[in-house]
Amino acid sequence: MSEIMISNLAGFVDRERISENVLLKDYTTFKVGGPAKIMIKVNTVKELCDIIAYLNKCQASYMIIGNGSNLLVSDEGYDGIVIKLEGDLMKVEAKENVISAGAGALLVNVCREALNNSLTGLEFAYGIPGTVGGAIVMNAGAFDGEMSMVVTGVEAVTKEGESIYVSPHSLRFGYRRSEVRKTGITVTKVEFTLTKGDREEIENRMNELKNRRVEKQPLEYPSAGSTFKRPEGYFAGKLISEAGLSGERIGGACVSTKHNGFIINDAGATAKDVNDLIELVKKRVYDTSNVKLEPEVIKVGRF
Ligand SMILES: Cc1cc2nc3c(=O)[nH]c(=O)nc-3n(C[C@H](O)[C@H](O)[C@H](O)COP(=O)(O)OP(=O)(O)OC[C@H]3O[C@@H](n4cnc5c(N)ncnc54)[C@H](O)[C@@H]3O)c2cc1C
Repeated sequence: MSEIMISNLAGFVDRERISENVLLKDYTTFKVGGPAKIMIKVNTVKELCDIIAYLNKCQASYMIIGNGSNLLVSDEGYDGIVIKLEGDLMKVEAKENVISAGAGALLVNVCREALNNSLTGLEFAYGIPGTVGGAIVMNAGAFDGEMSMVVTGVEAVTKEGESIYVSPHSLRFGYRRSEVRKTGITVTKVEFTLTKGDREEIENRMNELKNRRVEKQPLEYPSAGSTFKRPEGYFAGKLISEAGLSGERIGGACVSTKHNGFIINDAGATAKDVNDLIELVKKRVYDTSNVKLEPEVIKVGRF
């Protein structure tokens, strides 16, 4: 990436918010991944519009990183510009029964705002370690809830750098998917419409669901949560267990014995270890059950 690119980017944000050769393992929950050429931290919609318009004009590759909790970044890293949403883009605000949240806000902070305002509907999301933007991309969900049930408005920036309103309907939410990645928009703000409820009940439900995670998931190790999507009519973890893969390991990556649906990094894994284990699991499950597992984690860079 040329010096010209960096000095041009410095025209949009303070120079100290632009870094070079940033190790993405420090920005992902898997704790694997090589460097990004450039990382730029963006504080406002205006900055984001200008930068995206500029990158589009230069035909430069860029990606948005949320909390990196659903990413598998290759050991070679990402040969482009990684944009992180901060500042105004992390604000969370409740008005009556509606919460507006910047796409860079952590979901847990939105859940806490809901609790503080005795708003119910978002309890399912407490414990999903992503940002609001990442949650929209993935239609994140758990315990019979998902984003599509509570999201009533989305603001975004187009590939051309224009700020737009997007109706949630047009994002065609499905199981752990939406059209965000296909359209190439960057989500900037999300409106959640909730219902007035009882504070104590909301808190109890949130804690109950959080405890279930602690009990069932290997949260003590780096991972990206469930590695595979749930195949229709099956449970990925059960299929993996039936294929005799509990505890299976490649290098520092291992199929968790606590929850077979999680691949964990318990011994300094490389992205290649994780990817090879994903491929091994897919093959063995197919051989045993004739079911094709599809990774839920998003691969970034070359594998
Ligand atoms: C321990 C653990 C438990 C988990 N449990 C669950 C669970 O119960 N349910 C569930 O659904 N998921 C779960 N996950 C996975 C993950 O937390 C979710 O998929 C989450 O929504 C990802 O959000 P993120 O901010 O980390 O996104 P990232 O992983 O940073 O990015 C995911 C994708 O979204 C894109 N993106 C991020 N922000 C934006 C934006 N503003 N605009 C456009 N694109 C954007 C990225 O470019 C990337 O393509 C879990 C993960 C872990 C580690």
